[in-house]
Amino acid sequence: MTSPPSSPSSRTPLRQFVLKVHGLCNLACDHCYVYELADQTWRDKPAFMAPGTVRHAAARIAEHAAQHSLGAVGIVLHGGEPLLMGARRLRETLTVLDAAIAPVAWIDWRMQTNGILLTDEIGELLLEFGVKVGVSLDGDRAANDRHRRYRHGGGSHPETLRGLALLRRPRFRELYAGLLCTIDVRNDPIAVYEALLAEEPPHVDLLLPHATWDEPPPYAQPGTTPYADWLLRLHDRWLADGRPVPIRSFDALHAIARGGRSATEAVGVDRGIVAVIETDGTWEQPDSMKVAFHGAAGTGRDVVTTSADELLELPAMRHRQSGLAGLSATCRACPVVARCGGGLYAHRYRTGSGFDNPSVYCADLKELITSMDTAPGIPTLPEWVFDELASGGGGALAIAYLTAAQESISRALLVAVAEHADETAARAWPLLADLDKQSPAAVRAVVTHPFVRTWAVRCLRDGHNTARLADVVAAVVVAAGADAEVEVTPRNGKIHLPTIGTLTAPTSANVTITPGALAGLAPVRTVEVDGRVLRLEDADPYRDCHEWPATGRLTDGDAEAWATSLTAAWRELSLDAPEQLAGLGELVTVVTPLVAATDGTLRSATSQQAFGALGIAATDDPAALAVMLVHEFQHAKLGAVLDLYDLVDPDATDPVTVGWRPDPRPAELALQGTYAHLAVADIWRRRALRSAPGAAGHYTMYRDWTLHAADALRNGTALTTMGRRFVNGIAATIARWPK
Ligand code: SF4
Repeated sequence: MTSPPSSPSSRTPLRQFVLKVHGLCNLACDHCYVYELADQTWRDKPAFMAPGTVRHAAARIAEHAAQHSLGAVGIVLHGGEPLLMGARRLRETLTVLDAAIAPVAWIDWRMQTNGILLTDEIGELLLEFGVKVGVSLDGDRAANDRHRRYRHGGGSHPETLRGLALLRRPRFRELYAGLLCTIDVRNDPIAVYEALLAEEPPHVDLLLPHATWDEPPPYAQPGTTPYADWLLRLHDRWLADGRPVPIRSFDALHAIARGGRSATEAVGVDRGIVAVIETDGTWEQPDSMKVAFHGAAGTGRDVVTTSADELLELPAMRHRQSGLAGLSATCRACPVVARCGGGLYAHRYRTGSGFDNPSVYCADLKELITSMDTAPGIPTLPEWVFDELASGGGGALAIAYLTAAQESISRALLVAVAEHADETAARAWPLLADLDKQSPAAVRAVVTHPFVRTWAVRCLRDGHNTARLADVVAAVVVAAGADAEVEVTPRNGKIHLPTIGTLTAPTSANVTITPGALAGLAPVRTVEVDGRVLRLEDADPYRDCHEWPATGRLTDGDAEAWATSLTAAWRELSLDAPEQLAGLGELVTVVTPLVAATDGTLRSATSQQAFGALGIAATDDPAALAVMLVHEFQHAKLGAVLDLYDLVDPDATDPVTVGWRPDPRPAELALQGTYAHLAVADIWRRRALRSAPGAAGHYTMYRDWTLHAADALRNGTALTTMGRRFVNGIAATIARWPK
């Protein structure tokens, strides 16, 4: 019997569960962290996960997802070699997990395999459940077969390539998640890069071999950085090629530098959101811990007796979630700590001091990060990001690129405003440069606030009051808790600090703001949705930038109703637009409540000058709210792309006939509508698959509108070369859908 559910933990919920569905492997790779390192606990575990254990694991994951209202959870089928379980047992496992978890949260299915046992039958089964497959490959035949060998000593390269050929076939291409390559510095990095690219992977992961201070990395000598040198040669070639494929560790370091999140636990501050369930049902920490010592990954708990929330309360898990505070003193004082994050947790281990050390790869990581900073110019959007957005998608990393570009635009606007700032604002302005060095995250949070840009544009365009520049600096001082003070000028009896809140000023005299002197502050309202904090902007004086008017200050009851309806809408999206959730969560920082239409018509809007803010009139229909969120998400993404590229010839005059309006539209507005309707059609497509009432008709209508508008744009002369590429991406997505 599984023990009764515990109360939800206040800790960051787990987001990914690695299930060791089969404990043995058909290969005997000598760098394998399961069998060849310090931990030998695999010897005592069952060969595969029994059906009863799968059921317990599924129940625990579903319980956790429900308790934390998670829109999505990642399930990684892992081993050993997961495909050793065979098609029948794989189907049973997927069915049990799906039945328990899918009603609660969308499942991001993954499998990590050596690819040798991939067959058409397995491919069809994985297609049925939508399981994406990552394959381990270390490069060309010589590089790969240095380590990835059978027990008899023979190499595995040809068999793995056969499995990859299957994944590249059009039928199975959508299953192909990417390649995982463990670095051996004796291999030529360019030859490895070219061999990996030849397999046409959608993603590449480059993994440092697992090591600790007790068992240092192979071929590393004090005073040398062979791993950084190896990676930098590959990085230079990758940049010179125009980044033809996402490489997770490089993209993560670039994304963190631009204020995004790391999509890998290898760099950036570990969020501690991954847990492993072993074949015997025991909870473990990530596999990399097996390098540290025998039993290092173990928690002593299992899925029968311990919930995921209880697991999070264990000291080891709490420590993983303690962010920068949990790092060694050396790391905390390191100038690149925000990007490095102390490296992989396991790589910090040393007998005696445990994990309270920098990474054993410290010198390599520092060299890699600082050298990447001086690498030649990076294109604004890598081609794959542009194409991902054009297809109607846009995951968290793609959105991080857009956010980085928006930050550049906002900063440039602030510099322009500062050039003719009033006296008070001009006094405050230099402090921002100091704060940028001390507290870059606080500066980034304020300068990327959507309504900082709307104000800056109005300043420059309409000669609007520049006094808000001091408010921006004061908001950063407060957000950073900096030991500084900023003088600000009240307007209309108020001082609004963007992202912080509003103070009432009894006179028009200047007021000195410090983090400790905010008596009477009415803070910006926030709501938590799917683990993310959104601002509910009902007071920022520059929020009213949409075609519909914004509401005034909400009551507490109104704010609670927004929290409820946004959470319900997110839940709808986990069913109807699961691929959009990560990007939506990354992009949207603000919801601006709009005044509702008197006739009950739904209202939503975005402004190209307010990236990250969606304007929406309240509705108690979560399905309708879900559609509005995705509709506006599309407009926000396209607006940000239009900030970077001319997709439509500015001199084009021919209007475009579209299905959703009686009047022909200017080409750029037609493109906006086409892109928004693409995502709306996709929602109705999924609802039709679930036989939701009326969904089939809605799907047909939105799909046809989108298709015909895309064709009209492509048949016209208004699109630029990049615009044509963008619309081709839209059309390619529709072509994959049922007629
Ligand atoms: S580079 Fe070294 S000291 Fe700096 S954060 Fe990384 S591991 Fe720690």
